[in-house]
Amino acid sequence: MKTIKTDVLIIGGGLTGLTLAYYLKKANITFKILEANNIVGGRIKTQYNTNQAPIELGATWLINQQVNALALLKELNITIFQQHYGNTAIYHPNQDQAAQLVQLPPNNAASYRVANGTYSIIKALEQKLDTNTIACNQIVQSIKLLPNGLEAKTNDTTYHCKHIVSTLPPLLFSKNITIKPALPIAIQDLLKNTHTWMHNSIRIGFTYKAPFWKAERTSGTIYSSVSIIQEFYDHSNTDKNLHALSGFINPSFSKHTKEERKILALKQLQSYYGDQALDFESYEECDWSNQKHTTIESDSFLMPQANNGHPLFKDTYLDNKLFIAGAETSTVFPGKMEGAITSSQFVFNQLKAIYK
Ligand SMILES: Cc1cc2nc3c(=O)[nH]c(=O)nc-3n(C[C@H](O)[C@H](O)[C@H](O)COP(=O)(O)OP(=O)(O)OC[C@H]3O[C@@H](n4cnc5c(N)ncnc54)[C@H](O)[C@@H]3O)c2cc1C
Repeated sequence: MKTIKTDVLIIGGGLTGLTLAYYLKKANITFKILEANNIVGGRIKTQYNTNQAPIELGATWLINQQVNALALLKELNITIFQQHYGNTAIYHPNQDQAAQLVQLPPNNAASYRVANGTYSIIKALEQKLDTNTIACNQIVQSIKLLPNGLEAKTNDTTYHCKHIVSTLPPLLFSKNITIKPALPIAIQDLLKNTHTWMHNSIRIGFTYKAPFWKAERTSGTIYSSVSIIQEFYDHSNTDKNLHALSGFINPSFSKHTKEERKILALKQLQSYYGDQALDFESYEECDWSNQKHTTIESDSFLMPQANNGHPLFKDTYLDNKLFIAGAETSTVFPGKMEGAITSSQFVFNQLKAIYK
């Protein structure tokens, strides 16, 4: 097993980890990011197919109040564009009623998507970092307090460092990483009782040659309590020349196969739009409930956003050498991209004061 030394070890190469790394690099503080997957991004996942609209399978929308995220995007020269909802939606309340076209209330709070896909944020951050500061396929298994720092072990490497920042969803951190000496009971309890945003959601999307849902007397916005699709939106690209429909399906269809989900979703779309819905280019999906580096079963039912932004996440542990960051730890927009960025800024300010 090889040993590598660094000052700050960041566990997790999602938005929190990469944003923190970007700030640390600008402040000349030495760090390494360890990422369990073979690519960085975490819950930001965009499927790119040549000459088709990029399909978001993870984080998608931003609003004006998410000021830290919007400021970071501006700094990275990433543009956003308004989500198209239209004036109407297809509303399918139950089996006994036919789907109906309803008027949407005026939309005073615009939501935005990232031009060329949310993953462009990840790509832009990655490009700002030196390639040797990111190690993929590194699953951190343990953290140990040493007399002169911390040690973290992965499948094949031991890391020695001064500080560790976990950016894992708290529940995953508590279940998958052994910590010696054990953390205080209060934070152990908190970690295992913190809900992970979107941990059981299933995102799907179909790309199409033409946006037939933009025709009169129909809509690309769907709200349904029937069959598989629950919430669907127009997902055309920023130039409006590549088209798609995408959204969330009922999480209970996790037990079905990908092919079964595709067929059920197509059948539902066919019932709203006719046979043109069957003429898709590609089908993409991500079932987050089986993404093992995001989701793990909790011991008890956790209400959405349970314990998100709890004050104990602001404390430091293991002789003030361990920081617990990540979207769910933020008091603002916890679980969201804004939460991830705000949490990285909070930890960065503490590290900056230490390393000044
Ligand atoms: C379907 C879906 C839709 C969403 N929609 C929106 C939206 O519209 N707007 C919005 O603002 N937010 C949205 N979000 C939330 C947004 O994606 C998250 O807030 C953000 O990406 C979290 O970033 P993070 O870095 O804190 O955590 P993560 O992205 O979870 O990153 C943690 C990283 O740690 C890695 N890791 C795990 N275990 C280990 C280990 N043992 N060792 C090393 N690395 C490890 C993981 O692989 C991962 O890369 C959505 C999320 C999902 C899943």
